[in-house]
Amino acid sequence: MVSRVIPVEDFDLVIFGATGDLAHRKILPGLFRRFEAGQIPPSSRIIGAARTEQDDDAFRAETLQAICEHTTVRKDDPRLAEFLQLLGYVAIDAKGEGGWQALKDRMRKGAVHAFYFSVAPALFGDIAERLAGRGIADANSRIVVEKPFGRDLASARALNATLAQHFDEHQIYRIDHYLGKETVQNLMAVRFANVLFEPLWNAQYIDHVQITVAETVGVAGRGSYYDKSGAIRDMIQNHMMQLLCLIAMEPPYHFDPDAVRDEKLKVIRALERVEPVDIVRGQYQGKGADYLADAGDRDSRTESYVAMKVRISNWRWQGTPFYLRTGKKLRARTSEIAITFKEPPHSIFDDSGTPKANELVIRLQPNEGMNLKVMIKEPGPGGMRLVQVPLDMSFADALGADGADMPDAYERLIMDVIRGNQTLFMRGDEVEAAWAWTDPIINAWEDSKRRPEPYDPGSSGPEEALRLMHRDNRRWREIRG
Ligand code: NAP
Repeated sequence: MVSRVIPVEDFDLVIFGATGDLAHRKILPGLFRRFEAGQIPPSSRIIGAARTEQDDDAFRAETLQAICEHTTVRKDDPRLAEFLQLLGYVAIDAKGEGGWQALKDRMRKGAVHAFYFSVAPALFGDIAERLAGRGIADANSRIVVEKPFGRDLASARALNATLAQHFDEHQIYRIDHYLGKETVQNLMAVRFANVLFEPLWNAQYIDHVQITVAETVGVAGRGSYYDKSGAIRDMIQNHMMQLLCLIAMEPPYHFDPDAVRDEKLKVIRALERVEPVDIVRGQYQGKGADYLADAGDRDSRTESYVAMKVRISNWRWQGTPFYLRTGKKLRARTSEIAITFKEPPHSIFDDSGTPKANELVIRLQPNEGMNLKVMIKEPGPGGMRLVQVPLDMSFADALGADGADMPDAYERLIMDVIRGNQTLFMRGDEVEAAWAWTDPIINAWEDSKRRPEPYDPGSSGPEEALRLMHRDNRRWREIRG
């Protein structure tokens, strides 16, 4: 299958924080890949900005090194040399006065203007104010802001208010890179471009949903940073909430940014408050890896693992729980959504084994794809015996070479910014609603005296989390890479 590459308009993209980790690992390599694919017009300009004093050539050399380190491209690839010609650099301190006029002088009339804030959120306001106040950005410019978008409702509101002083909502692109993943978008295609699933997509036919994001890495090296956030702030409030919304939302009237985001917002607003009994927090502790040591705080109560049962209070989902779990130092690295349907109400097969519930598993990583478990007759003679088999589809296999070459989430999202398509970006009210739901969970925990449950590094998480499921006569799916 040949995927079509539709070039975007000519643009000037300014990356604040161009010398940082995210720019080196994701943004600049991603831009190169889109250039290589023919999606970026060669007249476009990518301007790095940070405090480090350097000229265009030094920034090009730095970018060359970053791209070679984080992609398989070779230093002498002629396409890389062409790409580097798009780059420029301006030394700017977000809080200072120097450099802004030089930046303004570099912006070309007629091109799409986008400003990527790949810096600490504390600098968003300073940059927004200077871009707008000095006429560098105008009503058609776009700004891209990175996570974390606040650490609670109050800070998210304050951040939204700061940005709103200088930019309209239609100019603000809040990145949640999970939304740029191929499979995440496929959730919408599967649900709304097939007649097969939607009639069954409700509490009458779905027993429960499990959303798992498991990592094998711990927090060593960035423990003190992680310790201020924890799994709920780092994963649940944003990425997993977005996955839940895409599974649970009503069909939007059109695949249009606000129509999609309106429906996601309704899901967040329908989430019931999670009671303490429905949530388990854990910290990895054992041979070879210890969260408290990694965090540098023996008294830390920050969770490196969380599992919770979530209920959605609306007609479609009344009675169907959503179980979310995410953690560090688990058995395997995997992200998946598993939809377990109800068992058939009656079996016509007497001694052939009870038909098991169908299960649809959508894998986000590794090996993006879908797997639908269906009952069939066990092949061969010997009467009617039932067996469950997977209908497995890996997107890379199904899409051939192009599948393996699918754009990374950042590539897709940056191209969407240039196209002016906000569908895969969180709207301000969505982010605030997500914090409004998460805040009481975090506050109740902070008020309690409990400590997170310990779990062995390389395990599936704390025993308590297993009991959360057993209590409901259900089981977690095995965590497998
Ligand atoms: P980083 O490696 O610490 O880089 C920060 C960048 O900001 C550097 O380029 C730094 O360059 C620049 N900077 C710092 N202070 C500045 C100032 N006053 N004025 C102008 N530039 C300034 O951080 P990062 O990991 O790239 O993260 C950037 C943002 O992305 C953060 O909001 C982070 O939360 C978010 N994020 C990062 C990742 C990731 O994987 N790294 C993932 C998701 C979200 P100079 O020192 O030269 O000024």
